[in-house]
Amino acid sequence: MLDCAIIGGGPAGLTAGLYASRGGLKDVVLFERGMPGGQITQSSEIENYPGFYAHGKTGMDFMDTWQEQCFAFGLKHSMEEITSVRKEGEHFVLEIAGKEPQLAKTVIVATGSTPRRAGIKGEDELFGKGVSTCATCDGFFYKNKEVAVLGGGDTALEEAHYLSNICSKVYVIHRRDSFRASPSTVDRVMRTPNIELLTDTTVEEIKGDAMGVIGVTIKDKEGNLKELEVPGIFVFVGQNVNNSIIKNKDDSFICDTNKQGQVIVDLSMRTSLEGLYAAGDLRIEAPKQVVCAAGDGATAALQVISYIQEQA
Ligand code: FAD
Ligand code: NAP
Repeated sequence: MLDCAIIGGGPAGLTAGLYASRGGLKDVVLFERGMPGGQITQSSEIENYPGFYAHGKTGMDFMDTWQEQCFAFGLKHSMEEITSVRKEGEHFVLEIAGKEPQLAKTVIVATGSTPRRAGIKGEDELFGKGVSTCATCDGFFYKNKEVAVLGGGDTALEEAHYLSNICSKVYVIHRRDSFRASPSTVDRVMRTPNIELLTDTTVEEIKGDAMGVIGVTIKDKEGNLKELEVPGIFVFVGQNVNNSIIKNKDDSFICDTNKQGQVIVDLSMRTSLEGLYAAGDLRIEAPKQVVCAAGDGATAALQVISYIQEQA
């Protein structure tokens, strides 16, 4: 039986792993379905993590040393996807596809969030064929071409700026006339000559053929329709929390959540179910920042250490 199972290897899970293993817990395993690093590895640049200020460094560069540091203190990584977590008596049962379930005394869920779809006609059919949610991954396919970016948050504007270095022109399409993104990012985008901001504008349809996207139909606030002939559109319209593993068969949750399915925690990252902790983007009121996710992970691990000591 594990002392602690950590699910998710983003900033929250990795930091929880570092604190739990360095804090003396013997059997701690990080379950991460892919390579550890989390969604920040998709970011083209990170410049707001204190103590790390290296112009032009990608999220991948940034996360490179995190796992090495954790594993140096004894954290084990199991590259598995957890399909569900439930509590049976005093311990937790973690179901793993095609494998024996894993038992654990405590669980830290740090499964983060994933990009939301905008629900536009053509978006699902053309996903991966010109519709993308990752500029770092797919931007290069549009070198010296025009592309569209949908959204008005930090992700949309930062990634539009990244794309402006690769593409000949970037249209940022946003449904309102003011942006959710931080003022400094908005300012930077406004100063970039090959970015055109199309505000009060929506995307009505993404059009394509057998080869992929050929253009998007946009609508301005007067209702005028226009075609933008772009071979790619990047959709950055927010995130959904990855909470499916803490759902019961009847779709209720094993612990308290809010209406958006974000896990309700106290300041110690404790959930309503004893022994279960949540950290990072998955929790209520998450600022959705790497530094905050890391802080949550550390807090949760310190609580787990106290809890295990009390139980002994
Ligand atoms: P995540 O990073 O989402 O990690 C969750 C991990 O859990 C993933 O690796 C996933 O594979 C794994 N997982 C999920 N379900 C399972 C399962 N069932 N079994 C096993 N593993 C599972 N923040 C900043 O502070 N600064 C920035 O500049 C910045 N830029 C960003 C740019 C982009 C493009 C994006 C998308 C986000 C950005 N953010 C930024 C936000 C930041 O990345 C997140 O707030 C942070 O990564 C959240 O960390 P997390 O550990 O909670 O979750
Ligand atoms: P977000 O802040 O929720 O912004 C989503 C954007 O998409 C909003 O502008 C929203 O418009 C728009 N939108 C939502 N649904 C839409 C739809 N169906 N059609 C068209 N537009 C739609 O999401 P995010 O930019 O991914 O950021 C998520 C979190 O991560 C935020 O807390 C953000 O601050 C954080 N983050 C931080 C950094 C950083 O610190 N550097 C970088 C990236 C992300 P409205 O504005 O009209 O609602």
